[in-house]
Amino acid sequence: MEKLYEGKAKILYRTDDPEVLLTVFKDDATAFNAQKRGQIQGKGAINCAIASALLQGLETLGIPTHYLSQPQPTEMFVKAVKIVPVEVVVRNIAAGSLCKQTGLPLGQVLPFPLVEFYLKDDALGDPLLTRDRLLVLGIVNEAEIETLQTLALAINQHLIHFFNQCQITLVDFKLEFGYDAQGTLLLADEISPDTCRLWDQTQSDPTAKVLDKDRFRQDLGQVEAAYQTVQQRVLAQIQDWHGK
Ligand code: C5P
Repeated sequence: MEKLYEGKAKILYRTDDPEVLLTVFKDDATAFNAQKRGQIQGKGAINCAIASALLQGLETLGIPTHYLSQPQPTEMFVKAVKIVPVEVVVRNIAAGSLCKQTGLPLGQVLPFPLVEFYLKDDALGDPLLTRDRLLVLGIVNEAEIETLQTLALAINQHLIHFFNQCQITLVDFKLEFGYDAQGTLLLADEISPDTCRLWDQTQSDPTAKVLDKDRFRQDLGQVEAAYQTVQQRVLAQIQDWHGK
C-alpha cells in the first residue's frame, strides 16, 4: 500500500477506496516537539485499541468521527479527511504548558473547561493562537471556531463521564478535526494516553497517579504499565458506555 504520510506516532496509507485510509499505530514516542525520542513497548496496539473504543463510543453519542474499523491490533481504517491544521486542547485541571505559561499550580481545578487552539506546525513549535490569529491566518472562519469549541466541550463532557467510570480523572487532552469528501467535519486522529493527561483516582501519590505520556516526558518509569492500565479500564467499561 502507498504510504501517504508518516507522523511521529502513526503511518497513514492509501487504500483502494479514495475515501478510506489505513492508520498504523507505532510504538515510537516523542515529546517536546520530537526533541525527546524513544519507544514504548506495545504502545501502538494499546493506543489503537483505546482510540478505537473511544471514537466508537463518541460516535454512538452523536459525535461524528473518522473511525471505521480496527482490522488488526495496530491498524485502524478511517475516513479520509482534510485535516484542519489546528490542535484543539481542552483542559479541566491545570498541568503542562498551562502551568508553565501562567503560573497556575499543577492540579488546580479550572473554574470552567478551557478550550485552546494551537497551530499544527512543528517548525513553529505548535504556537498557541488567539481567535483573531486564527481568523488572520484564514485557517477557519468564526462559525468554524464556534463549531470546534462546541464539539470540543461536548466531547469533554462525554470523556469526563466515561473516564470517571474508569476511576480516571481527565486532566486535559488534544483533538484534531478534518473535513471528509462530503464536507462533514469529523473528529479525527486519536484519543489515547499519548494525547490526554489521565490521573488514576485510586492513587494519591502525584507520581503514581500519572497514567499518560507524562511518564515518558518526565522519565517517571513504568510507562508501559500505565498505558496497559488505561487500556484495561477503558475496555472493561466501554460496553456500558456504548449502550448509553
Ligand atoms: O503540553 P500541553 O500542556 O499544552 O498539552 C495539553 C494536552 O494536549 C496534553 O494532554 C498533551 O498530551 C496534549 N498534546 C498533544 N499533542 C500536542 C500537544 C499537546 O497530544 N502536540
